[in-house]
Amino acid sequence: AKRGGRGIVRVFDESMDEGIRFRRRVESGLSQAIAKGELSLAYQPIVSRDAIDVVGFEALVRWNTQEYGLMSPATFIPIAEESNLIHELGDWVLGQALDVLQQWPGQYVSVNFSPRQFRRHNFVGHIMESVQRAGIAPARLQIEITETAIFDDAERAAETLYKLRQMGFRIALDDFGTGYSSLYNIRKFALDCLKIDKSFIDGMGRERESAAIVHSIIHLGRALGLGVIAEGVETEAQVQALRLAGASHMQGYFFSRPVNAERALEMARKGTVS
Ligand code: C2E
Ligand code: CA
Ligand code: CA
Ligand code: CA
Repeated sequence: AKRGGRGIVRVFDESMDEGIRFRRRVESGLSQAIAKGELSLAYQPIVSRDAIDVVGFEALVRWNTQEYGLMSPATFIPIAEESNLIHELGDWVLGQALDVLQQWPGQYVSVNFSPRQFRRHNFVGHIMESVQRAGIAPARLQIEITETAIFDDAERAAETLYKLRQMGFRIALDDFGTGYSSLYNIRKFALDCLKIDKSFIDGMGRERESAAIVHSIIHLGRALGLGVIAEGVETEAQVQALRLAGASHMQGYFFSRPVNAERALEMARKGTVS
């Protein structure tokens, strides 16, 4: 299209999807973000059913961009995921999480891995090498993956999860219920816990369907000997309902928003969110 004369070039430029241009900006910005120190991690506590003990923290990446201000990972992670940038970004996140683990008492840190990271060649070896270098026990790292990461190539994913679990890592299946997992397949995967997606928690007090889904996920988790973390818990009523339903852990603004490493360390030392 570019060779078709000036007029066409202009038409092409103007009609070029704003979305594509944004993507390119994000991609090139992200590739420099690490070096520029624009990335950071926020940590959100995961609490026990009685809401007293902090058992772990989920690490959530933050990007303070020059151009757009604070950008949500929901925006830039999918863009990174479509290029090899996700590996560089993921390695930075993991390195950072392992750094704080060296300073924190007993809790685990739960790190999100995108499907592409999970399917990376020698993922297991890479993770193992990183924790060994940091001198961290594998049990203190929880690997969070989504259904998408494991159901595309279930056979291979099952093997990867098995190896990770053998080595002592914790495995959480994130956003459970939103993907296309068959309940039948779940038992083939070596998991420690299921994370119930926020959308179901939101709907719990409003619609019978959401409440029913939450109850069946908790029931399924128990039957399979898995922990169940309810995420996006915002109200006291949700806490009560989840407790009654038998969720083993909770996470959400009701307890704490994601906080910086310093604040998280205070919570880790005290062992509670208050
Ligand atoms: P996620 O893994 O499902 O993380 C939970 C998201 O819900 C986080 O958004 C968290 O801040 C937010 N959240 C937690 N509790 C509440 C609540 O009570 N109410 C509301 N409204 N929101 C709550 P965040 O930090 O914006 O992250 C968005 C997504 O970006 C994550 O969803 C995850 O898929 C992805 N992500 C974040 N950090 C990383 C990372 O280091 N690596 C990868 N691969 N993905 C990441
Ligand atoms: Ca997550
Ligand atoms: Ca989630
Ligand atoms: Ca989510």
